[in-house]
Amino acid sequence: MPNAYLITGGAGFIGSHLAEVLLERGDRVVALDDLSTGRRSNLRRVANNSNFELVVGSVLDELMVDELVHRCDVVVHLAAAVGVKLIVEQPLRSFTTNIRGSEIVVGSAHRYRRKILVASTSEIYGKNGSEPLGESADRILGATSIARWSYSTAKAVDEILALAYHRERGLHAVVARLFNTVGPRQSPAYGMVIPRLVRQAISDEPLTVFGDGQQSRCFCHVADVVRALVGLLDRDEASGEVFNIGSSEEVTIRELAERVIERSKSSSTVSLVPYSDAYAAGFEDMRRRVPDTTKIREFMDWSPRRSLDQILDDAIADARDELLIDEDAAKVRDLTDDADSFAGAGIGALPIA
Ligand code: NAD
Repeated sequence: MPNAYLITGGAGFIGSHLAEVLLERGDRVVALDDLSTGRRSNLRRVANNSNFELVVGSVLDELMVDELVHRCDVVVHLAAAVGVKLIVEQPLRSFTTNIRGSEIVVGSAHRYRRKILVASTSEIYGKNGSEPLGESADRILGATSIARWSYSTAKAVDEILALAYHRERGLHAVVARLFNTVGPRQSPAYGMVIPRLVRQAISDEPLTVFGDGQQSRCFCHVADVVRALVGLLDRDEASGEVFNIGSSEEVTIRELAERVIERSKSSSTVSLVPYSDAYAAGFEDMRRRVPDTTKIREFMDWSPRRSLDQILDDAIADARDELLIDEDAAKVRDLTDDADSFAGAGIGALPIA
């Protein structure tokens, strides 16, 4: 039987892809989003679906969250202040949204006995870069004065909260720990590496790689991540568990930049930028972060289907589409400006084709 899903952060990158998949299989979706990093345009494909509704508002609004959770069967809590840049530049806002917002959403899910999935992050593991990271690996964090660790801490609090509600109050809660997720519609504005490198490549600008570029990461396509989220939502046995979701195809950021150049046929070069020029002094990054995804593979036979090259091809195509839309918008703006200047000269507004 179809369910009604509340997706907090539903106008965001992952939320909008999840909404599409749920609607395609006949479920209803309400997206609650304050549009801080999310965009209405992410929801272009679902906006006219009669089973879809966007509510513009904040997870910090207790009454609104309460009403929406009451109206739905299942809650997917994705709303968060995200992206290294945003977190480093606005630590207070990030911390409040990520802790207080989750407290409100999880509290409402408990009040109405709704199933909830809480999105967490590989940032949980902090600087632990040893072996592929299993769900019970240690968290190794730096000083509280370093803003980056506030995101990790806030997300850890969210996990603890959801799991404590499960253990002590019987809430059906599952935690999805996402590693780097990429794909169409991911914004380059908040420090996400692939959207930024891809846009630099298609504009033939130097690709800026921070540090020595030898730090490595694993990137998973958003379609694979959404398949994992839906699988967890569909299985009651996931309740009370934490699952890593990510790819184990490891790549250094330098190599990533070179692959972006190659696949986009760009004439750009790679430019190494010291961390101290990119972020405030004292910024810490980890050399390596590889997930161990044995648990979710054994639980529901999940593993990523798309390779890094497919991820890059999708991200490049998406960035090119967006560039065309921006250029069209700029042309319309130019025509409007021309019309305004004519009007100002007393000639009268020209019709805009
Ligand atoms: P995103 O920024 O596209 O999505 C987050 C959404 O939350 C945005 O639409 C934003 O407008 C919304 N939001 C922020 N504050 C809000 C508030 N107070 N009330 C309502 N909405 C609010 O980012 P995303 O990559 O889609 O992230 C979704 C979730 O996945 C987040 O919880 C994030 O921590 C987690 N995650 C993402 C990644 C990744 O690589 N993309 C990795 C680890 C974890």
